[in-house]
Amino acid sequence: PAPLEDLVALFDVRPTDVPTSDAERAEALRAPKFGTKFTDHMARISWTAADGWKDRRIEKYGPLQLDPATAVLHYAQEIFEGLKAYKHADGSVWTFRPDENARRFARSAHRLALPALSVDDFIGSLAALVRTDIEWVPDGEDSSLYLRPFMYASEVFLGVRPSTEAEYIVIASPVGPYFSGGVQPVSIYVSEQYHRAGPPGGTGDAKFGGNYAASLLPQLQAQQEGFDQVCFLDAASSTYLEELGGMNVFLVTDDQKIHTPELGSILEGITRASVLQLAADRGYEVVERRIPLSEVVAGLESGRVTEFFACGTAAVVTPVGRLAGSSFDHELNGGKPGELTMALRQELTDIQYGRAADRHGWMRRL
Ligand code: PMP
Repeated sequence: PAPLEDLVALFDVRPTDVPTSDAERAEALRAPKFGTKFTDHMARISWTAADGWKDRRIEKYGPLQLDPATAVLHYAQEIFEGLKAYKHADGSVWTFRPDENARRFARSAHRLALPALSVDDFIGSLAALVRTDIEWVPDGEDSSLYLRPFMYASEVFLGVRPSTEAEYIVIASPVGPYFSGGVQPVSIYVSEQYHRAGPPGGTGDAKFGGNYAASLLPQLQAQQEGFDQVCFLDAASSTYLEELGGMNVFLVTDDQKIHTPELGSILEGITRASVLQLAADRGYEVVERRIPLSEVVAGLESGRVTEFFACGTAAVVTPVGRLAGSSFDHELNGGKPGELTMALRQELTDIQYGRAADRHGWMRRL
């Protein structure tokens, strides 16, 4: 791979004329609520079908002006990514497996007929932004700078065909601990009525904005019934577990096995892949397969299923304390976090925050 310095040097840094004062930034970094505060700058690259990617720059964070006929506003041709920058004890700033986010972004782009951005440009843009706004990386426990790369169809045209213009932007937002006051098991409602994306061949394996739009109504209804999250089933048969709106799911059985839904119509989570590796390292047999909801419900009744958890960048590894659907309602492990769940959570965050050896070479210094 190209040296990071060379990738960063491609970006023209145009500093903001209205930098946040030290006092205002200190205030913004004090227990920030997810996705509400943003740093002074954003990274940006523009694309046209004629010229390809051009004008790599770091510019002032601020509103975008869009023509009302901009394609993305009509046909939702938009994709995104999500990853974090972590500050280690020596002050250095790192990301976790960013090359995997870059590759997933390119796969999402392919599915949404958007242009592929190279892994080098993806990583270069993150480093250029984080280096410019380095003072925005929080150093509190379980705090980080959340990075949100996204791309949208920017051509002003109402025809239904792939846009010949696109914008790639990265914004950054300081985040505090997901759980203030310690990890709390979440409750999940399994939706037998709604799907977030289609069967294989749909968009479930792309990080496409429309999947998240489709998850909002079932999520709202579940919250009104007192649940934290929705788990979706496969869209072809409503039989097999898929994932939550923004997290993959796992279950642990009493025979030293850890199971997770197979890839195809779900997002290929980077936390998921890492959990599979760390569980295998611990001697668990890891199984990626189709998991019928009926089997999970029976396993909860018999005690064969001992732990159930969700995982993703935002909340790392999150224990599930209650799983319910239209015809069942089970408490897991007395509503307490599972042992393996919490061990995996600890191990992963220790690697991310530089407290444990990075034996798989997952961390990349920005
Ligand atoms: N599934 C969905 C639908 C998601 O949006 C996310 C968050 N990106 C995940 C799973 C978890 O992926 P990751 O571990 O890469 O954050």
